[in-house]
Amino acid sequence: MVRTVPAPSELGIEVLRVAEGSPVELDLRLEAVMEGVLVTGTAQAKLVGECVRCLEPIDDDIVADLQELYVYDDIRHDHSDEDLDDETRKLEDDLLDLEPLLRDAVVLALPFQPLCQEDCPGLCIECGARLADDPDHSHDAAIDPRWAGLQALQPDHDQD
Ligand SMILES: [Zn+2]
Ligand SMILES: [Zn+2]
Repeated sequence: MVRTVPAPSELGIEVLRVAEGSPVELDLRLEAVMEGVLVTGTAQAKLVGECVRCLEPIDDDIVADLQELYVYDDIRHDHSDEDLDDETRKLEDDLLDLEPLLRDAVVLALPFQPLCQEDCPGLCIECGARLADDPDHSHDAAIDPRWAGLQALQPDHDQD
């Protein structure tokens, strides 16, 4: 079953997400099992976001693996409630609510720290220029950026 659905709002994380309404291609296999329906497959979508180091826009694709067992709601009659924790997804009126599954899978598949490129050098601490565009960038009498952080650790008033 291949189906394209519009992305729900806030799919992903703040810095990297699927734009609301953009197409999400679901390639799903539904398998009837004893307890319900086993859903496996993938979700594919386009990502938008910003590099966490230099704030450059990121265009990327995501392929998230989906796997979830949706149990029949009436299984409660046969099992004690302890068998079904809050994480258990249920079939309600024989409908699959795929949105929570999609949300979890997308967040899991995202990198924690999206970068425009591997080893993005980030922004110049002096002027904010994007160092990837200008690797030889320097300022007169600039503080070596590796020392700038240490300098901030020194007390301002250490002379009595
Ligand atoms: Zn970057
Ligand atoms: Zn600079």
